[in-house]
Parts: sequence; structure tokens; C-alpha cells
Amino acid sequence: MAGKMKKQVILDVICPVCHKSLMDNEIEIKGLPSVCLNIRTEDLRQGTVHLCGAYECFEHLKDIPVKEGEIAGFYCPHCHSELLTGEICQVCGAPMVEMKLASGGIIKICSRFGCFNHFLSLADLEAERHRLEV
Ligand SMILES: [Zn+2]
Ligand SMILES: [Zn+2]
Repeated sequence: MAGKMKKQVILDVICPVCHKSLMDNEIEIKGLPSVCLNIRTEDLRQGTVHLCGAYECFEHLKDIPVKEGEIAGFYCPHCHSELLTGEICQVCGAPMVEMKLASGGIIKICSRFGCFNHFLSLADLEAERHRLEV
């Protein structure tokens, strides 16, 4: 390997309601398993989104067109619960979506497409790193 890469944090995401894994091993983004969620757009079209499983990577795939700036509802593909927090994004004011990590942490993402500041941000990354390294 040329040069020393920043240590990559690979997420292992589960549904906060039914605790089933949201990881999809068949759809890879950048060679990593992706996080699979169902989405519903403002005009009620339904589709699937795959988010890159690496922390701070904003790559994603979706099977329906979503306009930049559009807010989508995010749902567990297993139990179909809407994954909403009561919080709003501090950048754009859209509702925040919450998922759990198998290791116990929580990640929150902004439900607005294009607001990548908040895509897969980790609430307490330092605590997570600590857990991974112990
Ligand atoms: Zn679920
Ligand atoms: Zn936002």
C-alpha cells in the first residue's frame, strides 16, 4: 500500500426498531457492503436507496430519481418503520433520520438529498473508535 490511509470506519447498521441488519452484501459501493433503506419521496414515489457503508463517504445509489434538495422519508426494508428522530438538521432544517449500529452507537443522517454534510455522520465517533480499538 502506498502511503498511510486514514483509518476507515466501516459501519454495521441495524434498524432501531426491529434490530435487523440494514447492510446489503450484494450491492457494493466502493467494494464495501452498502446500507439499504426504502425511501418515499415528497410526491409519494417509493424506491430503494443504498448508502456507502464507510463513515463520511457520501456515495449512494437509488433506483428512483430524487431531486437535489428534496426531502425523502426513510423506512426499514424489514419492518417498514419510518426511521425518524424528533430532531431537525442544523444545516437545512429537514427531519433527521436515525439508525443504530450493531456495536451500540447511533448514526443520524439528514433526510434531504443533497445535504451531504449529514449523510452517515456518527453521533459519537470517538466513542465508537474507542470501542473498535479496545
Ligand atoms: Zn426494522
Ligand atoms: Zn440537512
